[in-house]
Amino acid sequence: MPSPGPTTSRDELRRRAEASLVSGVSRGFNLLPEFGPLYFSSGTGSRLYDVEGTEYLDLVMGWGSLLLGHNPPAIVDALQRTVEKGFLSQHETLAHIELAEFVTEHVPCAEKVRFTGSGLEATLYATRVARAYTGRQKILKFEGHFHGMHDATTIGLSSSPLGKLRPDGTVEASAGSAGVPDVVADLTVVVPFNDLSALESALAAHRSDIAAVIMEPIALNMGCVAPEPGYLAGVRALCDREGSVLIFDEVLTGFRVGLGGAQARYGVTPDLACFSKAFGCGMPIAALAGRADLMSLLGPPGPVPMSGTNSARLMVVAGALAAMRVLAEPGFHDTLEKRGQQMAQGLAAVAAEADIPASAVSFGGRTSVFFGCPEPPSNLREVAAGWDAEFHTRVYRELMTSQRVYGFIPLPNAPDPINLTAAHSEADVAEVLNRFATAVSRARRNPRRR
Ligand code: PLP
Repeated sequence: MPSPGPTTSRDELRRRAEASLVSGVSRGFNLLPEFGPLYFSSGTGSRLYDVEGTEYLDLVMGWGSLLLGHNPPAIVDALQRTVEKGFLSQHETLAHIELAEFVTEHVPCAEKVRFTGSGLEATLYATRVARAYTGRQKILKFEGHFHGMHDATTIGLSSSPLGKLRPDGTVEASAGSAGVPDVVADLTVVVPFNDLSALESALAAHRSDIAAVIMEPIALNMGCVAPEPGYLAGVRALCDREGSVLIFDEVLTGFRVGLGGAQARYGVTPDLACFSKAFGCGMPIAALAGRADLMSLLGPPGPVPMSGTNSARLMVVAGALAAMRVLAEPGFHDTLEKRGQQMAQGLAAVAAEADIPASAVSFGGRTSVFFGCPEPPSNLREVAAGWDAEFHTRVYRELMTSQRVYGFIPLPNAPDPINLTAAHSEADVAEVLNRFATAVSRARRNPRRR
């Protein structure tokens, strides 16, 4: 497809945007480190075009949501057909039932499902159900895991300052946002990931008051960090022992690492799970799924009301259903995983050739390179201690400017992973690796180049 022609200059749009949008962006993450806001006109497949007509090889891909690329024919077709039917419909339809059935068929914990509009809402309802079920107050989360920006979970993020480790295994974590009342923040207990004894002692210290343990089963928001062998089963066993509800936040892993998510991949079934991003492949939809007895607390008729004006409108349900049918085609996830592994090996090889200690990790196409960490890190402290943020930032600058690769964004304590999708061909992987090699070599030669 030819690139759309230039319409206006970026600087002109920025000036105009800043007059009405806070910092010139409609959503905070679009204010990119080093560059500020960029303004785009369209995307197709794995490519993105800015308003000046520049083509980028996109590796942000809707922050991991566009698992089928920018304009997959299956979704476009479903949307075009649905728009004729009264696209705003919030009524129950056959499509809603079919989408719920798809989740219950493939996701081990999913006896029942409800839809909502965003990952944030799904994790908010999950924690509320856990509190209602247990009658307890506190939520336990892991350092560097991200669950959306509601009060209970905006704490101990990868971007938060690293707090001191306390003797009881918990982290002295600060809220990741102003405006979170202390009384709410105090109800969230934070522990390091991949440390069962820290979890055990934190649960003991807050005995009988932890309603839920919420976690990303594979930590994909602090680079990509795998659970150590047996860790998830250990967390499951501790939750059972302490009577805490185990919530897997599969907003990133769900439908990306396989149709059954991380829970199927590791054979550990949580009580509740949250889905979004790849579930919908760009449609603004999320799901809360889990054990029937817990889900029956959702109202009506249960005591935890769950609804929303914009939740699960027909348009997004139809798009999500079309997307799920593509994801269910034989070999879909094998191909995605293979491309991700090729990318990880290639990134590590480029670093090795440049004599830079590094490791690279990939899950379902979500991939990170950790410059400065010869071994893959196992928690946020190891990422923050080893990761060479300064060199990563130099490479990112080169990628964005001379190589026109959109991605590899440096966050305060960790690299933001790149996202391969079904729209990235083997040739795209090779092209990314070529451009990455050039960016690494230019970053080494020109430390201060912009
Ligand atoms: N949970 C995880 C694991 C996420 O990565 C995100 C977003 O990046 C969320 C929850 C929040 O989802 P949303 O941005 O749709 O609110």
